[in-house]
Amino acid sequence: MEIDSELLYSKLKTFFGYDAFKGDQEAIIRNLLEGKDTFVLMPTGGGKSLCFQLPALVMPGTAIVISPLIALMKNQVDVIRGFEEKQTGIAHFLNSSLGKAQIQEVRNDVLSGVTKLLYVAPESLTKDENVELLKDVNISFYAIDEAHCISEWGHDFRPEYRRIRNMVQMIGRAPIMALTATATPKVQSDIQKNLGIMDATVFKSSFNRPNLYYEVRDKVEPEKDIIRYIKQNPGKSGIIYCLSRKKVEEIANLLNINGIRALPYHAGLDAKTRADNQDRFLMEDVEVIVATIAFGMGIDKPDVRFVIHYDIPKSIEGYYQETGRAGRDGEQADCITYYSYKDIQKLEKFMLGKPISEQEIGRQLLMETVAYAESSQCRRKLLLNYFGEDYPRDNCGICDNCLNPKQTFDGRKEMSLVIKLIKSLPEHFKLEHIALILSGKANAMVKSYNHDKVPLYGAGSDHNEKFWSAVIHQGLILHLLEKEIESYGLLYVTEKGEEFFRNPYEIRLVEDRVFKGTAGGGEDDDDAISDKAAMKGGGGDPVLLSMLKNLRKDMSKRLHLQPWIIFGDPALDDMSILYPITFDELHNCQGVGEGKARKYGAEFIELIKRYVEENDITRPEDFVVKSAPTRSSNKIYIIQSVDRKLSLEDIADAKGMEMDELLDELEVIVSSGTKLDLNYYIRQMVDDDIVEDIFEYFKEEATSDSVEEAREKLGPDYDDFEIRLVRIKFLCEVAS
Ligand code: ADP
Ligand code: ZN
Repeated sequence: MEIDSELLYSKLKTFFGYDAFKGDQEAIIRNLLEGKDTFVLMPTGGGKSLCFQLPALVMPGTAIVISPLIALMKNQVDVIRGFEEKQTGIAHFLNSSLGKAQIQEVRNDVLSGVTKLLYVAPESLTKDENVELLKDVNISFYAIDEAHCISEWGHDFRPEYRRIRNMVQMIGRAPIMALTATATPKVQSDIQKNLGIMDATVFKSSFNRPNLYYEVRDKVEPEKDIIRYIKQNPGKSGIIYCLSRKKVEEIANLLNINGIRALPYHAGLDAKTRADNQDRFLMEDVEVIVATIAFGMGIDKPDVRFVIHYDIPKSIEGYYQETGRAGRDGEQADCITYYSYKDIQKLEKFMLGKPISEQEIGRQLLMETVAYAESSQCRRKLLLNYFGEDYPRDNCGICDNCLNPKQTFDGRKEMSLVIKLIKSLPEHFKLEHIALILSGKANAMVKSYNHDKVPLYGAGSDHNEKFWSAVIHQGLILHLLEKEIESYGLLYVTEKGEEFFRNPYEIRLVEDRVFKGTAGGGEDDDDAISDKAAMKGGGGDPVLLSMLKNLRKDMSKRLHLQPWIIFGDPALDDMSILYPITFDELHNCQGVGEGKARKYGAEFIELIKRYVEENDITRPEDFVVKSAPTRSSNKIYIIQSVDRKLSLEDIADAKGMEMDELLDELEVIVSSGTKLDLNYYIRQMVDDDIVEDIFEYFKEEATSDSVEEAREKLGPDYDDFEIRLVRIKFLCEVAS
């Protein structure tokens, strides 16, 4: 089609109100107008919709826009209808939500040529009557939005998308434009193949979002950490993603209890509540929305200042899409993810019910997320690399790993070993397989290939497989290694890798970070601690903390009590975060009951007060993590029953609890400062000598109140039940 530049710009102005195109928009539109298939990869917020809306308005005929979301369609149709008054026919949508009369109206408008854009859900496209209708229409082109839905390797696979190509053939071929905001090289190739547009012109914008700060935090007390973060960023809008509805409700509730206006959003809520909650977030009536992944598609709130992943996402693509909702206005925004390997194991377990092939894909995508989370490399570099893009610098300056860089080492020997092994095997294998062989660990797969017999088996056994995985990952980023796209993940050595192997040069590598609860890798424990302390926002005031510890040491000498009996480490940690300067505030620190606060707290409060004044510290005044009241009726019942000297068996029976659960509950009650007198029961159940031994142990020997430690030190003559009972007695009589 002949394209007049003037016409294009005047339409851009009259319809959309813009004076200039953004990024590649013009080139993309011209390519389509020339009748060519066009593939658009652009990050969220890049301006994809205009790429098909504008040509649809200037070309003769109707453009068919295939989009997976009804809400999104309706929204776009409303926008376009707003362009020309009294011309509601200019855009329509066709999906399962329409009634008979509405469908008739769409038919009339489409057939009479009034309609320039027709939005269709993929499942509606496959209906016979719609296919028949569209056969009679003059189609300008097909736009396939969210095209990654076509691939099983994308984060939102929709089988109906696979049928689009057939439908297009039945209705009649016209140029195709595919658009997506996330696609790895594998997904990109799937899209082109499946749509039969191998020759399409590909327009790929950079996926870099320079204003987003990325951080992965150890998932230790995440609720508390989140509340602290939000309190430190008052008035800012944010989204918190959780994987389960239950968690969404819990967190939203907890935030509200702590004075943060938050609302839940998940598929279990009815449509009206969901819409209301979304609106209230958009209107800034609430600051935080706590959501399952269902939230955020197609909403365009420009000033979302933080996106928190309470749970690790199932794929990097999902992660990137969700974090992409932050900072659309270009101002800095934070993307914080809580990571624990336990969550990964949970996700793997959920997958077990699915078909094997799906499980395999799911596991691979999940492992990419693990690699990302545990890496010590620049997050931006890792993310962009995942989407097939090189980030030119080594340090981006705004991600956790760049702000706290880890020691690097010259990895030429290690990388050479990896390359040597890959080259020595006649077939290609995945990353984990190679890492296992080098570290000398044979799983079933390694054995089945007899790879525990190859000369390089265990050649790197001075390191574990996690170390070798990290080396291989960095080899990929340096393009010394590549993964095959089709077979997804089988490693081969690139030309650059061969060159390196012939003439190795210095490459700086880093080991992965170690997270608490991470499986394996015990030798790096010290690192884990220093890493955590170095992390932005983690932990409290280190200077104050060491002063508090000194004071505790002092007092322990004076009072002839072990330090932990005065205040435990968690209590001191909290003090260094909360700066309590009254007894009430002190009482809010972990394990500090009222009695203990009064008994030992005065000097701590004095010290903190002085410290706060001298250093001009703004205290997070209302920062007290209040927990949602749970089972409080049990608590009251238990306290009353102990007062009445009922046996613990009877109390447990009455509440339908196991004895262990009751002991848990008693410990919670005691650690929050309530004293219980269990002597009537202990005298009856435990031998006096044994009581005395355990009591003495806690008083003189123990370095903490840990039951495990007591069990070890005391030996097999004392059982857990006895230890726990006497420990409760001790905590009530001495330590509180
Ligand atoms: P995507 O679908 O890629 O996420 P959108 O189509 O929603 O992006 O566009 C993102 C934002 O960019 C919108 O606010 C849109 O109005 C704006 N935009 C699109 N094209 C232009 C342009 N040529 N000039 C200025 N703003 C634009
Ligand atoms: Zn970085």
